[in-house]
Amino acid sequence: MREEIRRRLDEEIRVLYERRIVRGFPVQPIALTLRRRDCRYISYESLAAASGRSLQEVVLAMGSADGCTNYDPKKNRYLIAVNDEGRTRTRVRWTTAHELGHIYAGHFIELANAGRHEASPSELPYMEEEADYFAASLLAPIPAIRKMRAKSADDVRRWFDLSRTAASYRWAEYLQCKNQTVLDGFFRWASAESAVKTGEMMHRKPRDIWPEESEFYT
Ligand SMILES: [Zn+2]
Repeated sequence: MREEIRRRLDEEIRVLYERRIVRGFPVQPIALTLRRRDCRYISYESLAAASGRSLQEVVLAMGSADGCTNYDPKKNRYLIAVNDEGRTRTRVRWTTAHELGHIYAGHFIELANAGRHEASPSELPYMEEEADYFAASLLAPIPAIRKMRAKSADDVRRWFDLSRTAASYRWAEYLQCKNQTVLDGFFRWASAESAVKTGEMMHRKPRDIWPEESEFYT
């Protein structure tokens, strides 16, 4: 992971929380894609129906069984496509947040500026890591885990609606951070006024504050 991208993603996430664009847990990443004017969301199933192809053909065309994002540099617009067929809710949430991570990390613009459509084999590992970093930080921020006084990976799984695997990784990362005496910039928003307000909201019953995706998808 590149340090400048990590800082950029931390800042993007801080803004999402401070401006109350993200207003509680569990975070609804599909709704977040729709909050961006330059971004739309579509399921593989809808994509298949719209293009008269089978789901399998869409998976092959996308080159990923989980999700893919298309960037149109001329219009500066993104279309996130996610396979929700036979996938758990937590997996769909993670995939969507991961694809958003590629957008917030500026990967598509970076590639477009280099006149390319896809990442090279040498770029792919760190770009994937950066997208995963965004997904983890967005869905289960370390300051929120701390503020809610999570006692186990299972608390993290339930409160932030992660898969067991994702929750275990996040719990391990939390324990690592917890033992660090030097706090980096990522933790600063936790003490900001708006984050404290967010913290109060965390104890309420999670509710879906976002409109259904179908209202947005045309
Ligand atoms: Zn990816």
